Amino acid sequence: MSRFLVFIAASTLFTCCAPAFAQPTDAAGWFAQGRQTLETLRARTPNNGKARNVILFVGDGMGVSTVTAARILEGQQRQVDGEGNRLSFETLPYLAHSVTASANQQTSDSAPTATAMVTGIKTNDGALSVSQAVARNEADAAVIAANSVTTILEQAEQRGMATGVVSTARITHATPAANYAHIGNRDWESDAQLPAGATVKDIARQLLEFPHGDGVDVVLGGGRSFFLPAQVQDPEYPEQAGKRSDGRDLTQEWLSKPGARYVWNRAQFDALDTSADGPVLGLFEPSHMKFEVDRAGDGAGEPSLAEMTRTAIELLQRNENGYYLMVEAGRIDHAHHAGNAYRALTDTIALSEAVAVAREMSSEDDTLIIVTADHSHVFTLAGYPMRGNPILGLAATEAGPMKDALGLPYTTLGYANGPGYVADGDRHEFTGVEGQYREADFPGEKSRPDLSAVATTAPDYVQESAVPMLNETHAGEDVAIYASGPKAHYVSGTLEQHVIYHLMAEALELR
Ligand SMILES: [Zn+2]
Repeated sequence: MSRFLVFIAASTLFTCCAPAFAQPTDAAGWFAQGRQTLETLRARTPNNGKARNVILFVGDGMGVSTVTAARILEGQQRQVDGEGNRLSFETLPYLAHSVTASANQQTSDSAPTATAMVTGIKTNDGALSVSQAVARNEADAAVIAANSVTTILEQAEQRGMATGVVSTARITHATPAANYAHIGNRDWESDAQLPAGATVKDIARQLLEFPHGDGVDVVLGGGRSFFLPAQVQDPEYPEQAGKRSDGRDLTQEWLSKPGARYVWNRAQFDALDTSADGPVLGLFEPSHMKFEVDRAGDGAGEPSLAEMTRTAIELLQRNENGYYLMVEAGRIDHAHHAGNAYRALTDTIALSEAVAVAREMSSEDDTLIIVTADHSHVFTLAGYPMRGNPILGLAATEAGPMKDALGLPYTTLGYANGPGYVADGDRHEFTGVEGQYREADFPGEKSRPDLSAVATTAPDYVQESAVPMLNETHAGEDVAIYASGPKAHYVSGTLEQHVIYHLMAEALELR
């Protein structure tokens, strides 16, 4: 069964209250559809109960335009009305804006935004779960300890709950790391990145030596090289070695915990016994995991975000005290930085499938689910294409592609800045590997390329950008918070991002 069929099955079951509607064809149909939505709103009752479990989903870089474009693409892939389609998390009943500015940035990076969501405070760029009093390159462990801020994962462990961190990015990357590490510089993922004389522990080591409760119970993602010593070959890519300079193999040290398991490929992941006790570490790539569209081509095989979410919940739900789970679709952000909308949107759809799994496996009665983004990207959806026009295609009406002031066609999707700057007449294609592009020159150069015969819907197409930048940038506008379950109705209005922590803590009664 294809993953889209899986998604349809899940949507049918779990999007009871605001299903994607068939596109009305006349005024009466639109009016009735609007009225039907109102009836579902009237029937809604807030859940003031206590949450047993909390699942925080973070689409890294998943701004509102990304969600809209992904919903249209997902619908078009299923050959239903894309504009009327909804991703799984868009059917959660409560929504608010999240203000993503950090303590010192108008447009933030993922470190202070993740810190805000899991600790309840705002801090500075680059900082993970330490206050804004910490300088970015502070390497003194005593200073870090004095300014560390408790995370919701730590509180959950102290209470005896099960905890998990899942990401398609490196598990030592900013968003997952903010849950379990305290450090001034998000780039200190292994000891080899630490400055000379540093006494603070690197991020991977902080995960292994996590001092609360019985440690993080489920860890699934990328970033294997930060756990392996430089003397050890990577098991999947023998030409690569580990990054650690302290000689420690943290994957082997993990196994010293009672019942602990470590997996690094698809077959081992599939063979995990989720009814057995003991913590699970899965590291499926030396760096980030593959983009969803590239996953099938991975040599050793990797689980999808939805599959990792299912396994994590199966493992965590065995704890009678409940669980806290953070799941990040970490590579939406990376595809946007590459100016490659296709991978950003298909990874957003993969997040939608993961949320559908979580909704299927939990109850709104006792599980608070929050789906949000850490920040947005300068990604736009524009230009008056007709309804039903392929979202990755040229903006078009029934008469054909629309034309710009030069008489040239243009795509619906684009970026305000990034590698897709084309005023030199060149065009590039993304290889799927960070920073690596193919030149795809073609005749007809003006100040923009002639896209008439270009497959802009192809996975590697890089959308045009107005300002030339090697890396497209984050954007500063608000992102959405979607929520269901106990206290989800507090998700309302325009909220500062750090309120997300306070919502989760309130639902778990962690005060
Ligand atoms: Zn980013």
